[in-house]
Amino acid sequence: MTGKHAFIAGSLSLCLVDTLGGRGGAGVERLTGPEDLREWLVSAGLAVQPLPAPSDEDVANARALREAIHRCGLAVLAKAPMMAGDLAILNGWSAHPPLRPQFTGQGLTWQAREPVKAALSTLAADAIETLAPPKAARIRVCPECRMMFLDNSRAGRRQWCSSATGCGNRAKVRSHRARISRSSNGGSP
Ligand SMILES: [Zn+2]
Repeated sequence: MTGKHAFIAGSLSLCLVDTLGGRGGAGVERLTGPEDLREWLVSAGLAVQPLPAPSDEDVANARALREAIHRCGLAVLAKAPMMAGDLAILNGWSAHPPLRPQFTGQGLTWQAREPVKAALSTLAADAIETLAPPKAARIRVCPECRMMFLDNSRAGRRQWCSSATGCGNRAKVRSHRARISRSSNGGSP
């Protein structure tokens, strides 16, 4: 997993969710078109090589799957039921034929008749595994940037995302400053 995309959400399907960044605000779309999707799938290790250019429909499908996963994750956090339409999207893609290994005589290659759809199948399968117990209990949303992630720490007490913008650090600095300004105003810390 390399390239300009960050894969820090703890599961591949939540990394897809993270391709819409800044969810606490205006949002930052990182899948703006077929080339972004192609690059993301290659970076994620989900693409057969050479991967044919995805279509606009593939991009729309990837975004629809992404938002369904996000809504289901929010439902898990709210202990609310998931929407039937979102489950249909997840289950529909998961039922699609995924990438399969083929033996060349020397080694294996990954093949699919419809490579992008096969990648979405793998992502949907990962999403279902992430959204179902026991992993579902480890889904978190960063209180700073609203990024959804899977807490893979041993203790399961991770609160902040591990983004390069350093959400956990920023919050610590802020509470430290608030403490200092309270004590300089004569208040108790
Ligand atoms: Zn964050």
